Amino acid sequence: MSGNRIIIIGGGISGLTAAWELTRRGREVVLLERRDVLGGLARSVPLSGKPLEVYYHFICSGDRHLMELVKELGLAEKLRWRPGRTSYFVNGQLYPFTTPLDLLRFSPVSLTGRLRFGLHALRCRRMTDWQRLEHLSAEQWLIDSVGRQAYEVVWRPLLEVKFGRHHDKISAPWIWHRIHRYSQSRSSLLRPERFGYLEGGSHTLLTALQRTITAQGGVIRTGVEVFSLDCSGQRIAGVETSSGYYEADTVIAAVPLPELVRLLPADSEYGRRLSRVQFTSVACVRLALRRSLTDSFWVNVNAANVAFNGFIEYSNLNPWREYGGSDILYIPFYFDSSDERDEWPDSRFIESAIQGLRLIQPEFVQEWVEEATLSRDRYGQAICPPGFGERVPALRAPTEGLYVLDSTQLYPADRNLSGMIGLARSVAQMATDEQ
Ligand SMILES: Cc1cc2nc3c(=O)[nH]c(=O)nc-3n(C[C@H](O)[C@H](O)[C@H](O)COP(=O)(O)OP(=O)(O)OC[C@H]3O[C@@H](n4cnc5c(N)ncnc54)[C@H](O)[C@@H]3O)c2cc1C
Repeated sequence: MSGNRIIIIGGGISGLTAAWELTRRGREVVLLERRDVLGGLARSVPLSGKPLEVYYHFICSGDRHLMELVKELGLAEKLRWRPGRTSYFVNGQLYPFTTPLDLLRFSPVSLTGRLRFGLHALRCRRMTDWQRLEHLSAEQWLIDSVGRQAYEVVWRPLLEVKFGRHHDKISAPWIWHRIHRYSQSRSSLLRPERFGYLEGGSHTLLTALQRTITAQGGVIRTGVEVFSLDCSGQRIAGVETSSGYYEADTVIAAVPLPELVRLLPADSEYGRRLSRVQFTSVACVRLALRRSLTDSFWVNVNAANVAFNGFIEYSNLNPWREYGGSDILYIPFYFDSSDERDEWPDSRFIESAIQGLRLIQPEFVQEWVEEATLSRDRYGQAICPPGFGERVPALRAPTEGLYVLDSTQLYPADRNLSGMIGLARSVAQMATDEQ
C-alpha cells in the first residue's frame, strides 16, 4: 500500500506527538503500538474507576514544549501548579529539605558542607557551559564541589535511586542538568520549588493526542508489535509486524534504543553502535493508602536497612484524594539484568516497600494499604557515563527515511515528557521536509 506512508513505531508520548504533528500537516500516518494501551512509560491503569499513571509524572516550570502542546490541544485549564516539598530520611529521622532554611538546619551534614551544598546549587542554576564537565563523573565533581560528607548524605542516595549500582559511573553534566532544571522551578531562592501536573495526569494529554490524531485522519493500531525494519536497500521500505507487512517510505522508531537494535539486521554497524548504550530496568510499587504518610512530595532515603532510596507521595502534589481517591505513593527500584531483583516476583518488591515504610514512619500499618500494585519496564533509565554525549544517536538514522526518537537524545537532560515532545516535533518537521 501507499508510497508516501509514514509508519511510527511506539505509542508513547514521542510516537503520539510525531503522529499528531504529521497528521496536522496532512500526512498519511499509521502508528503501531505493541501494548494494548497507549502511553509507554506514561501509561495509566484504572484505580477506583479513574486512570492512574503507573509511574509518577510531574512538570517543571521550564517544560516549554509540554506546555505549548497542552495549550494547542486546548488543555491549558487542566494544568495545575503547587509547591512540592522534599524531605530526607537519614539517621533514622525525617528532615525537611525544601527551603534554604531547611538546608541550614540540616544537621546530618556539617555547617561547612551545608554552605558548600547551597553555593553549588546556586552555581548550577546560573551555569550553562556544561560541556566542560563532559569527561568528569558526577561523583568526583560533587565531592570536589560540596565535600565528601554532603555527597554521601545528600547526593549519593539520589544517584542510587536512579542508577542503582551504577551510581558512581554517571557523568557530571547529567547531575548538573537535573539540579539546573529543578532550580528553574523555584521562582525565588526563598520559595519552595513549584511543580505542575495535569488534572487526570498524563492520561489527559495522551487521550487528547489520540483523539486528535484520529480526527486528523491518522491510524493508531494497538496490540501490533514490529518485528523488523525492511532496510535492505539504501532506503527504508517498510516494517514486518505481528499483523503482517506494512509498506512505508518513512519510518519513525519512537522506541527505546535496545528495542530499535532488535529491529535492525543482526550485522548492522549502526545497531552495534547503538547497543553501547546500557539501560537499567525500573520496577515501581504503587500504594493506594487510607492516610497520608508525610507532607512531602519527594522523600530521599539514606538508610542501610531500607531497600529503596526514595519514594514519591504523589497526592502531596496532585491531590488525588480530593477527587475522591486514596493517597497515592510510588516507590521506584532501579536495577540491571545482573541484579537478583531482576528475578523478584511483584510480591517481593511490595513486601520490601511496606517494610521500608514502616521503618521510616513507625505509625504506618498494613491496614493503611488499600491497594498495592507494581509495574515494570525493562528500559527504565539510560546509564550515562562520562563522555556519554558521543554515544547519543542523531534523530536521522544512517538509512534514508528512518528517524529515531529516544530519551538519550535529551542528554545531558534526564528523560522527560517535555523534551520528547520537542524532539518529536522536530522529527515530524524533518520527515515532512524530506518526503
Ligand atoms: C519511573 C519514571 C518516572 C518518570 N517521571 C517523569 C516525570 O516526573 N516527568 C517527566 O517529564 N518524565 C518522567 N519520566 C520520563 C517519561 O515517562 C519518558 O521520558 C517518556 O514517557 C518517554 O516516552 P517515549 O515515547 O519516548 O518512550 P516510551 O514511553 O518508552 O514509549 C515507547 C513505546 O514503544 C512501544 N514499543 C516498543 N517496542 C515496540 C515494537 N517493537 N513494536 C511496537 N511498539 C513497541 C512500547 O510499548 C512503548 O509504548 C519518568 C519515567 C519513569 C520510568
